[in-house]
Amino acid sequence: MRTAVVLFTRDLRVHDQPALATACATAEQVVPLFVLDPRLAGRSANRDRFLHQSLADLRATLRGLGGDLLIRHGDPVAETIRLAREVDADGVTVSADVSHYARHRQRRLSDECDRHRLAYRAFPGLTVVDPGALTPTNGDHYKVFTPYFRAWAGADWRAGCAAPERIRLPGGPAVGRLPALPDGESPQAAAGGETAGRRRLRDWLGHVDRYGDSRLDRYGDSHDDLAGDATSRLSPYLRFGCLSPLEVATAAGDRAGPFVRQLCWRDFHYQVANAFPDLATTAYRRGASEQWRYDADALDVWQIGHTGVPIVDAGMRQLRAEGWMHNRARLITAGYLTKEIGLDWRDGLAWFGRWLLDGDLPNNSGNWQWVAGTGNDTRPHRGFNPLRQAHRFDPAGEYVRRWVPELAGVAGAAVHEPWRLPLAVRAGLDYPPPLSER
Ligand code: FAD
Repeated sequence: MRTAVVLFTRDLRVHDQPALATACATAEQVVPLFVLDPRLAGRSANRDRFLHQSLADLRATLRGLGGDLLIRHGDPVAETIRLAREVDADGVTVSADVSHYARHRQRRLSDECDRHRLAYRAFPGLTVVDPGALTPTNGDHYKVFTPYFRAWAGADWRAGCAAPERIRLPGGPAVGRLPALPDGESPQAAAGGETAGRRRLRDWLGHVDRYGDSRLDRYGDSHDDLAGDATSRLSPYLRFGCLSPLEVATAAGDRAGPFVRQLCWRDFHYQVANAFPDLATTAYRRGASEQWRYDADALDVWQIGHTGVPIVDAGMRQLRAEGWMHNRARLITAGYLTKEIGLDWRDGLAWFGRWLLDGDLPNNSGNWQWVAGTGNDTRPHRGFNPLRQAHRFDPAGEYVRRWVPELAGVAGAAVHEPWRLPLAVRAGLDYPPPLSER
């Protein structure tokens, strides 16, 4: 092939990027392209900023390899075809994705490529194992995690691909301007990009403490410790494809280990969303009880972290400050919204969707439905008693004091139940009573 266009979407990396690697291996000239699609912009200021940072980083890396990242605005299909014709390309490559929107885009792109006699190829790379690659004997996807994990861990994984050494860009087309860096909403949000993601991955795998253990080695014991903040925080980089999930899983080693198992949860929700694309709007479990209350005030105090339940408020405030929340806090805050105060999981999903850097359809919807009891949990009536969770996963109250400064002066685990403090102490705290008592 003489010239190939690589349409980047949320696979913003050069390492183990099959659509890019194959184009570089089979075409003499390669045109890396990203199209800023107005239909996807503006859903989350945090993610718009992270995306922009990731694009700037990818562009710098591609320039270092002799190429560039061409930027266009508009409909990705029309812009890809326009550019392909401009550079007289023979083919287009892209990474396959699972959402309604992405699948529609892929179908349209494939049709338009046919019409213009361009070879079209979609590649894996968004997950460790392709959604749809593993099926149980009695269905088109796995509904329960544990059998999926067994099949996933025992499956043949594709071989990773190396980053290209050099990219030859055809002369002619304008590279296109990346607009000014948009403001995010969260002051402490992580910065995007493959370079930052790889740095974080190296730190996660390699940083060894004085006992000779890496953070990965300690993950099994520490991942639920809210104050310890001992998880990888790789999720935003996986969300935008700044890191290859296959590379992360392979580098972590032990397929049966607790960390790689979490990466399997990510793949699990992708294969569910692939089979059930309405996951963001419709209860996955047929016959699930959906009797939600409507209470705008309760939703409002949950969103801003003023429920009066400190562990819930701490999580919700971390979300707004960082654009990220610890998984245990996500479980507690989502369980509180749906099972304690009985509000609709879709409202929680939308709020998380606005703030989370890692927010994506399969994982956000899949996890919300799991917690609400409408999804893949085999025990849909399970509750997340926030107080019990608080004492178990934040036993000294440090996580709460970090995020709820009004309670910073309350020592130890007493911080989880300010309503039990002596009246005089309570009166001095600028902190509301629990929602259930208002
Ligand atoms: P680690 O503990 O270091 O785990 C490593 C990786 O495994 C993560 O980066 C992530 O890619 C994956 N992972 C871990 N737990 C899960 C899980 N339960 N489901 C799917 N993948 C997982 N994760 C998202 O990536 N995007 C979302 O929009 C999202 N929304 C969520 C909403 C709710 C209500 C809940 C309960 C969980 C949600 N999660 C979501 C899953 C999980 O909370 C995050 O992936 C995790 O907290 C990210 O932090 P980390 O990278 O430090 O994770």
